[in-house]
Amino acid sequence: MVVLPRRLLFREPLLFKAMILLNLHSTFCLKDQTIFQPAHILYTPVEFLKGVGPQRAELLRKELEIATYEDLLHHFPFRYFDKTGISTIDSINDQTEYVQLSGKIVNIYEEGEGRKRRISATFYDETGRIQLVWFQSLTWVKKSIEEYGQYVVFGKVSSFNGGYSITHPELETLARANASIGMQPVYSSTARLTAMGISNRSFAKITQSLFEKLKPTDVAEFLPHSILQQNGLMSRYEALCHIHFPENEQLLQQARYRLKWEELFLMQMQIANLRLQHIVQRGYQFEKVGDLFNQFYKECLPFALTNAQKRVVREIRMDTATEKQMNRLVQGDVGSGKTIVATMAMLLAIDNGFQACLMAPTEILARQHFQGIRELLEPLGIAVAILTGTVKGKDRKAVLAGLANGSIPIVVGTHAIIEDSVQFKNLGLAVIDEQHKFGVGQRARLWSKNEKAPHVLVMTATPIPRTLAMTLYGDLDISVIDELPPGRQAIKTIHRSDNHRAQVMGFLKNEIEKGRQVYIVYPLIEESEKMDYESLLAGYEQVKSWFPEGKFNIAMVHGKQEIEERKRNMERFVKGDAHILVATTVIEVGVNVPNASVMLIESAERFGLSQLHQLRGRVGRGAEQSYCVLLTGSGISKDSYERMRVMVSTSDGFIIAEKDLEMRGPGDVYGTKQSGALKLKIADLVKDTPILEHCRYAALQLIDQDPSLLLPQHQALKKRLQEKVGIEQWNKIS
Ligand code: ADP
Ligand code: MG
Repeated sequence: MVVLPRRLLFREPLLFKAMILLNLHSTFCLKDQTIFQPAHILYTPVEFLKGVGPQRAELLRKELEIATYEDLLHHFPFRYFDKTGISTIDSINDQTEYVQLSGKIVNIYEEGEGRKRRISATFYDETGRIQLVWFQSLTWVKKSIEEYGQYVVFGKVSSFNGGYSITHPELETLARANASIGMQPVYSSTARLTAMGISNRSFAKITQSLFEKLKPTDVAEFLPHSILQQNGLMSRYEALCHIHFPENEQLLQQARYRLKWEELFLMQMQIANLRLQHIVQRGYQFEKVGDLFNQFYKECLPFALTNAQKRVVREIRMDTATEKQMNRLVQGDVGSGKTIVATMAMLLAIDNGFQACLMAPTEILARQHFQGIRELLEPLGIAVAILTGTVKGKDRKAVLAGLANGSIPIVVGTHAIIEDSVQFKNLGLAVIDEQHKFGVGQRARLWSKNEKAPHVLVMTATPIPRTLAMTLYGDLDISVIDELPPGRQAIKTIHRSDNHRAQVMGFLKNEIEKGRQVYIVYPLIEESEKMDYESLLAGYEQVKSWFPEGKFNIAMVHGKQEIEERKRNMERFVKGDAHILVATTVIEVGVNVPNASVMLIESAERFGLSQLHQLRGRVGRGAEQSYCVLLTGSGISKDSYERMRVMVSTSDGFIIAEKDLEMRGPGDVYGTKQSGALKLKIADLVKDTPILEHCRYAALQLIDQDPSLLLPQHQALKKRLQEKVGIEQWNKIS
């Protein structure tokens, strides 16, 4: 009997082939499957399908992560061709997004040089004409399009020279379109795959040949029968058949519903499992509210806490008083005062004989927290240490020793805190600021520092819409600081185009003369880092010409500076020595300079809504009227204009987050695309909220009834969760 990890198999189709040749197929088994079983047909590499072969299989894996039959089954069509959906060119207007047209292609010609090289053609029907454009796969286009041919085209419409155009339209000859019956699936493909003969349409053939090989029983059902019944879901096999080759619109909708359901349900089961692990995870009991906490509350608080802050402190107190481990997310808009809440939670830990740590996503933020917390705790005589990547040599040794022997009660820092070399004597509480920059895995690592898990408090200034919170943080309890400290004036937000630059600079001067400080922020986006960096430097020169040296002091910070230099410049601004801070988004989170009252954002159209909101939150921290000026080019897109409009019209972080999610989708907004946390194939967290709620309810109910998934009717589901979601071990509790 040969035992191999499944991952290896995915990557080594040759190995698989060899095993088939040696007739080991049936005795061969997968390590992470339950009892030894023959390899399932769905794990067969796609190269064994008719029309694929090793080369195309390799490309499918590289381009679309399709390695096995199973992967191909889950590569769903993104639309369906249906003859009834053909419209006319004269019906296109500015609101039209996608169209399907039937007509003739004429006047095909190549133009442009280098990267701008393209093929254009005119497409017309009885009612008008439209331009077709291709930038890629030009050889293929030239070869396959026939001048004066009759075609059906489909694509996204954009305005062009007073008319309309479609870039990279999908094409089908009219003859073929007429021959097709019912709804034909259209799949997403890539330029390289198309060049290798796997176009949007030929996917259908491959998928068809896969279905010919499959028996209904090969696609095992894993949702319990009761769930299928209660929610009116079709079987998995049926759903997969109908999503690829729907007989009609109604069956297609049912198939989509079932597949969305299964996707969201598995995710909610995973979250419910995590949650259960937290519940059974024993934590340290903070038995008392001790002297330090009380003394701080009575004597050291620089202001009265808001009711929201008090409520959250109480929630933390209640969590930590039990023997269960706390896992709590504190959401509070920028400036709502999360730091003081974290500080008080740390005092609770120390009063009970434990150590506490606070982790921030950047060096600048960690240093600012360090200074702030040290000042707050100075009267109590509590030692606070800092540990970041730049703390080296003797200093680092001293901190490590102090943490290990317990003489340092509080440490503030960056990721450096969770390195293996860092050992605590008895870490009782870990505070993580600006959570979304840390992965779930990193949270888990903190827990493994002691035998029992420390309490975990996550603080985020990114208001998270409910649906997303249910998925990203569904395993955490949530507290909200929904009140700003008193005396804050609303920030005035203004949108201006470049043409008004002189006026805007005049306004800045005015504010500086009143004694205020000003931020000027430039975009820095990874893909175009070099260019952005150059425009930042150019911007800095321009700022210097508006604000001559001698009269004005300007500091600049950006990610390419040496850390020491950046620190020095930042200090100048924090201390009030510099009037203006020219910066990239390194200042995005957390920096606190109450005297700064103007935030000028250059090329604001290049920022996302949540980022704009975060930046705006850097001002309005003192008693003065604060301003946020969004400077954009004059001809910005509809979407950009809409973002500016939202920023000007509201300062409510939750509304902005919802809007951002709606406009961009969750992967973009929370940078979770790479992490895979939100890798959904078919469900949509914005549009499928009702399904998500059903799934959450069903998952909680199921876990309640059978927490360890021991019942026979739950075995298929358990196996699926172990394989697919990568839960190594399902909970063993009863
Ligand atoms: P954030 O929630 O964005 O991390 P901070 O904790 O940095 O906010 O607090 C923002 C500012 O508000 C700080 O200057 C802080 O001292 C001040 N602050 C916090 N709580 C209160 C309060 N209850 N009353 C007055 N000022 C407060
Ligand atoms: Mg903060």
